[in-house]
Amino acid sequence: MALKANLRHFLNEDGDALELTEQAKIIFKFLTKIVSSASEHIDQPLFNIDLQCNTRAVELSCRGGIKVRCSAIGMIEWYCDTCQACGTISNWQGSVWDKQERIIH
Ligand SMILES: [Zn+2]
Repeated sequence: MALKANLRHFLNEDGDALELTEQAKIIFKFLTKIVSSASEHIDQPLFNIDLQCNTRAVELSCRGGIKVRCSAIGMIEWYCDTCQACGTISNWQGSVWDKQERIIH
């Protein structure tokens, strides 16, 4: 089953991380690592990031790597190259993990 994450659900109005449960903290760290890598490579259709599948929760044994794709609607899609794990991340733009180069007008 795909994990649909909305980054805003982890943040307060100031863009800081909310108090999270241990489980939520682990997945949040996983998601923000994807966001910062994906936003750096936003012009690439598909790429590997230096992140293992088993870092998204405790007690996972999958040693697969995570691949990331940015969709046209600004959604980040990720999936494991080994198991069935996959998901999307929305509302990441403008967060502190957004590494896209700002266009100065
Ligand atoms: Zn996996």
